[in-house]
Amino acid sequence: MQLNHKVTKEQMMQHLNEEYPEAIELVKTMLKLIGDDPTREGLLDTPYRVVKSWMEIYGGYQQDPKDILSTSFEEGMEHMTDEIVMCKNISFTSVCEHHMLPFTGKAHIGYLPNKKVIGLSKLARLTDCFANRLQIQEKMCADIADSLMAELEPDGVGVIIEASHLCMACRGVKKPGATMTTSAMRGKFKSQPQTRNEFLLLIKN
Ligand SMILES: [Zn+2]
Repeated sequence: MQLNHKVTKEQMMQHLNEEYPEAIELVKTMLKLIGDDPTREGLLDTPYRVVKSWMEIYGGYQQDPKDILSTSFEEGMEHMTDEIVMCKNISFTSVCEHHMLPFTGKAHIGYLPNKKVIGLSKLARLTDCFANRLQIQEKMCADIADSLMAELEPDGVGVIIEASHLCMACRGVKKPGATMTTSAMRGKFKSQPQTRNEFLLLIKN
């Protein structure tokens, strides 16, 4: 069943009850454990909303980066093999695996094509494929870089992610606004300082 806008709320709830009974019960238990009453009016639909949102937020587990990167172009590459292909400011929302709280930010991805190039939208889809899972920012950076290295076999990949974490803002040190930057450099982005510097310059400008 596709959950589109034509589905009534009752149909949606029935579908979720049939498909994900454990998840619905789990959210009810969670509501109880945090000290609230899952049977009060304002919370009656909450387990359904939460489980439905999980489909989107954790939809990345159903996606394979190989499929996303499978459509590449190989023609006309002779002229641009030493130029960085770059996509900046790919906004994303993910969930930290330590606290299950969201972190949001931007990914900047560049690569040096060897034979294959891909459409820029694929870099955005690749980012979402890894963002829509439980993550730590460092691993997300590495996952994006490694899957590009594996599938496109480029001369190098650079990934920089800047993000702010709700777990740092609303608990623990309570520092809203603090951002974290992580990077993953592969191939010539790691071995050639000039390539890495060009990439970093492209992000700034
Ligand atoms: Zn966290």
